[in-house]
Amino acid sequence: MAEPIFNRLALIGIGLIGGSIALAAKKHGLAGHVAASSRTAKTLARAKELGLGDSWHEDPAEAVKNADCVILCLPVGASGEVAKAIAPSLKPGAIVSDVGSVKSSVVAQMSPHLPKTVHFVPAHPVAGTEYSGPDAALVDLFENRWSILTPPAGTDPAAVERLAKFWRGLGANVEVMDPAHHDLVLAITSHVPHLIAYNIVGTAAHLEAVTESEVMKFSAGGFRDFTRIASSDPTMWRDVFLHNREAVLEMLGRFSEDLTALQRAIRYGEGDKLFDLFTRTRAIRRGIIEAGQETPAPDFGRPHSKDGTS
Ligand code: NAP
Repeated sequence: MAEPIFNRLALIGIGLIGGSIALAAKKHGLAGHVAASSRTAKTLARAKELGLGDSWHEDPAEAVKNADCVILCLPVGASGEVAKAIAPSLKPGAIVSDVGSVKSSVVAQMSPHLPKTVHFVPAHPVAGTEYSGPDAALVDLFENRWSILTPPAGTDPAAVERLAKFWRGLGANVEVMDPAHHDLVLAITSHVPHLIAYNIVGTAAHLEAVTESEVMKFSAGGFRDFTRIASSDPTMWRDVFLHNREAVLEMLGRFSEDLTALQRAIRYGEGDKLFDLFTRTRAIRRGIIEAGQETPAPDFGRPHSKDGTS
């Protein structure tokens, strides 16, 4: 196995993403020692039981001591507060990063607290599931996914490359982007789709004319896929919307205009418009499958029972 990229890696937050980094970093020999920290004793104890890391620390400042790389793996709204708590204990020359789904806000929250002696390289692995907590950690979560690095202008390129090497070691492809551009791209590819899912499931839940049992029974008609997305962690997603407000509102504005156009096409029987759009969207899915980011199996790869129901 090759030399570890970091002698000591500190993961502050050890749920789905932190836990998955811990597992993959050990598997691929990318870190000599993985120090894990979590806000509650319960999560920390579970991470220890599951072997997520090599040492477990209630105090994040303790975990980051002597670490060559520190990665915050917690809801984006907590980034500033945690950066402030660990700042005095950071080793000069260390790389400080995060995995938050929003980048401009994380940069604004963390930068003021970090000493000039560390290299700040924010990151966002575009990989995840609707589950959270240490039990949701997966060793192969980042395989063939993208990790987007958003270093502020003037960051040492060697530090950026070292973190990129770490993410490639975890199995991810790496792209470097400006934080504001990241937030706009992710608003349309991830944040707005989650909001639509939360909204449609909420609308179904409020319908008085359709009973709860009918919603469950006939959910295979598209609704079920929205419920998967809408079961994602409430804290994480609350923070995403509060911290990527401008980009989400911009994309929602466009979405609403396009939805109104579809509404008109249905009202006036403009079948060609509907057909053209549905043809273009089908091609987009084909492109995602060709890029290796989704399985071509029918019904999203779900197993079907013998009578054809699922
Ligand atoms: P998670 O499984 O819920 O784990 C969250 C971790 O953060 C836990 O260790 C938790 O500690 C800690 N935490 C929660 N609130 C905190 C607070 N206010 N202060 C300090 N620590 C706190 O979450 P996750 O899915 O790994 O997400 C972590 C980050 O990754 C988020 O910023 C999210 O945007 C980003 N991300 C998520 C996904 C995804 O699909 N889930 C994908 C890419 C990026 P306790 O359990 O001890 O309270």
